[in-house]
Amino acid sequence: MTEAYVALGSNLGARLATLQAARVALQALPGLSGLRASRVYETEPVGGVPQGDFLNQVVRFDTTQRADALLQQLQAIERAQHRERLVHWGPRTLDLDLLYYGHLVMATPQLTLPHPEIGKRRFVLEPLLEVAHGSLRAQVHHLLATTPDTHWVRPYTEDKG
Ligand code: ADP
Ligand code: MG
Repeated sequence: MTEAYVALGSNLGARLATLQAARVALQALPGLSGLRASRVYETEPVGGVPQGDFLNQVVRFDTTQRADALLQQLQAIERAQHRERLVHWGPRTLDLDLLYYGHLVMATPQLTLPHPEIGKRRFVLEPLLEVAHGSLRAQVHHLLATTPDTHWVRPYTEDKG
């Protein structure tokens, strides 16, 4: 059993419903248990492409799947949400990034772990802090205190005026 952390993001279409559908699909993956989800955050797009604001969230769960198999399952969930991949760093209905897979460190063209952008992305760090536990918690705390990222990130409530 390995503990995995996944970042969810959406800035096209029914963003909140997309995140909800992604969590339901994650829950149903073989060998997955104990899923915990952060709050949903609304966040300013990073990367310079003009596009709508994102909703972001981080989940943690235990899995019996290998990392490469898990990534393929995440990509299948992305495809099921009709993800568009036309512009790099552009708008997407659903992005699922594997942040950590236990303590595994690797770098292949298909999969880099831990995800290399974690420390540069406040939209990952803030929700990650909510679900991080063990030694990771202190690490994420430190990354949040030192990240150069100044894009805004705020808890999302559907019915704000
Ligand atoms: P981004 O997430 O950077 O906006 P994509 O979601 O289009 O871009 O991902 C591009 C590629 O990144 C995918 O084809 C995938 O194989 C690769 N990749 C490498 N490491 C990871 C990771 N830790 N989590 C998710 N995808 C990864
Ligand atoms: Mg991605």
